[in-house]
Parts: sequence; C-alpha cells; structure tokens
Amino acid sequence: MRFDLLVQGGSLVSTEGIEKADLLVRDGKIAAIVSPGSADGLDVSEVVDASGMMVLPGIVDLHVHIGEPGKEQKEDVVTGTKAAAAGGVTTPVIMPNCVPPVNSAERLIARGELFEAKSFVDFALLGGAGGESVDQIAEQADAGAVGYKSYVGTYREERKGLICQGTGDIYRVLEKSAEVDRFIGYHCEDGPSAKVLRDRLIEAGRVDFRAYHESRPEFTESLATVPLLEIARETGGRLYLVHMSSPWAMDVADMYRENGTDVTIETCPHYLTFTDEDTARLGPYAQVAPPLRSPETMELMWDLINDGTIDIIGTDHAPGTPDEKVRGQKNIFEGGGGLPAMETIWPTLLAEVNRGRTTLENLVWLMCEHPARVADIYPRKGTLIPGADADMVLVDLDETYKLSADSMYTKNQDSGTIFDGMEVTGRVKMVYQRGHLLSRDGKLVVEEPIGAQWIRP
Ligand SMILES: [Zn+2]
Repeated sequence: MRFDLLVQGGSLVSTEGIEKADLLVRDGKIAAIVSPGSADGLDVSEVVDASGMMVLPGIVDLHVHIGEPGKEQKEDVVTGTKAAAAGGVTTPVIMPNCVPPVNSAERLIARGELFEAKSFVDFALLGGAGGESVDQIAEQADAGAVGYKSYVGTYREERKGLICQGTGDIYRVLEKSAEVDRFIGYHCEDGPSAKVLRDRLIEAGRVDFRAYHESRPEFTESLATVPLLEIARETGGRLYLVHMSSPWAMDVADMYRENGTDVTIETCPHYLTFTDEDTARLGPYAQVAPPLRSPETMELMWDLINDGTIDIIGTDHAPGTPDEKVRGQKNIFEGGGGLPAMETIWPTLLAEVNRGRTTLENLVWLMCEHPARVADIYPRKGTLIPGADADMVLVDLDETYKLSADSMYTKNQDSGTIFDGMEVTGRVKMVYQRGHLLSRDGKLVVEEPIGAQWIRP
C-alpha cells in the first residue's frame, strides 16, 4: 500500500496527551498513526522530518471576520485566508457581517461559492439570525451554516437582519436555534449603560485612551449575559457567548451550564496576553470590544482556562483600517477597534505554554477539538485520528523569535501594531491542509489556493 506522506519523529499532541508517533497520510486523510520508526520500509512518496517538533491539529476558529463582500477594505478572502494558512488556522469559520450580510440560504450559498473560488484554506460559514430573519434560520442550516451570529442593539449596514431588538427577538431566535440544533453567538455588552458612561466621559472632555475601557466596565458584560442565559434556559437554545472578558459573567454562565443550560463560553487570545495597560499605551491599536481588562482580571482568566469554565478560544480576527486608527488617536470613541489575530494566536499562546500558564493539550481542546465538536464538523476537523483530514500544524516549542506586523498577510498590517516586536518562544514551523504544505515559518509556499473545501455539519 502506498502513502502520500510520512510525518516522522515528532510528538503528536491530542487532548489526551503527548506521545511520540509517526503519521501516515493518504488522499488527504490521516491513514494511520504508528509508533516511531515503524513506518520504515513502507512505500511513501514524501517524508517530513518532524524531529523535535510538536504535531498539532489545525485550528478550527469559530470567530473570524473577513469583510468580503462589501467590506474588503478591512480584510478580503485572499488576504484573510492567507493569514489563516500562515498561522495554522486550517478551518476559519466566517462571521456573517459582510455587506450585504448573510441572513438567508441564498446569501450563504453565494458566500460559500466565493470562498470556494478564492480561499487558501478550508472554511465553514456562520449564518445570520435576528428578529427580522427568524424565518430564514432553518433554511441557512439546511444550506450548511454551522451556527449563527446575532446582534443586540445598534443598527449598521452589515447587521441588517442580524439584529435582536430586545428580549422578545432574542427569545424567538434562541427558540429557533433549539429547533435546528445549531449554536447562536451573542456579543455580551449592555449598550444603554455603556452609553451613559461614555456620554459622561465625553462631557467631561475625556476622549483619551483610558476613557475607552472606563466606558465599558465588566458589569456591562454580566448585565448583557444574564438575559441571554435566562432565555437559553427557558427555550433550550444553544447559546454561544463570544469573546468573553469578565470572570464574573463567566462564573454566572457556568452556573447555568451546570444546571443544564446549553452554553459555550469563548474568549480570545488578546484577553489572555494583553491588558488595559496596553490600551492606555496604544489606544486604537489595542482597542477591542469588550475592552482589554486589568492585569488582575487577566490572571483570573487563566484560572478559567485551566478549570474548564472557558471552553473555546477563538481569534475574533478583525483588522481595522488605517483611517479608523488615525481617528482613534484623536478621539478613542471615534476609532475602530479590532486586531488581526490568526497569524499570532499560536505564537502568543505557545509563549504562555512555555511560561507554564497552561498545557498544549488543553489548547488543542480549546482551539481545535472542542470548536469542531460545537460546529458539528468533528472528527473530520479538529483532531488527528485515522480518517480525519490531515490538517497538521508542526510547532517548535523552543524557537525564540520576534513577531513583526509588516510580515503579516492580513490586509491591514498596521492593525497588528500591538504584536510588532514582541519576542515569543514557540513557533509554527509548517502548516498542512489535507496533506498539502501551505506555509513554512509563517510564509506561504503555495501561490494559488489548493482548492478550498466548504465544510458543512
Ligand atoms: Zn467578532
């Protein structure tokens, strides 16, 4: 029997542990996992030397914003998916807030076809759900949506049909999510109370960098979370709390989960690696919503990563344009937030593994296996067991290097300023999709897409 690839000499990382093993790949899938050296003599087309390296599954990132169509100035399909291929995100799951937004089966299919034509990596799509589009929720599931994003409050062009005006709409949307058995993502920050605080700060002449996080304290997150939890508890809906930053809100959500409510808690790498001191220093270049929190809060976040309260890490990859950053320099409330994070998620978190904050096995659960399970695309994605797609990330845990914004593939490198010059230990060396090498040391080795596959549940 002939194999396409043998990955030899590495240590295979799964949620169960780390063990020395060799991987055999055939037709884009993991064909077998064998003990070190026991594949010698087999008929193999190519041998990859992984000695000294960790072999991880590709990331399934449930939180990726790519603006195309309609907001290409932030990120387009080519730049965004090249960033994914460089960083080891082999299955980005794309948010629906493009223009026009995805809120029907027709638009979901059109977006899937766009990505199939241009994407450098496999992908999955989120549909859109809101008060106006409750009737389109089921059809989007049938068309291949792995879940949905919904917004509470403020209207923007890219949110048309994705908005819930209050708890009545949230009720209808979560009720429907239970029927179609797909998760619905909600951003938890209470707009009205944050507006009171923001207006007061502006009245007092405060538009400086620190005013941003003062206007959005942690209680706005817990305040927004509780109604969602109550409605999920009542309707049986599958609630997915995106980019959570407040330990109190997460402890409350965990209490509901322990009592049977279907709730998943996501945080992002930036809440684990940066703090409000970075916002005070960098303003719009460290501006995210919810805002970065205090160093004390960041410490608590790591406890929640290690005790299982936080059960997903997604990037919230969302670069902003240079114009937005310039506006934010003058008035932080007029700046545009967002960071490009797919190229930095592994190096920033590998550095934390090296500091002893958490384990590689835990991160494989939080970034690969669990998101694939939540999106119902496991075990094709999110794991390296026989039969799974051979999406592999080879990592050198010992290499120290500096991140640089101008070597990123994201369309807005300027937006990656917070990472620029950061010294990290732990590097993504090679990224494979279905057995094809996509990148080496963060540089793409393919000039054209290898043929992206749209992954449906
Ligand atoms: Zn987001």
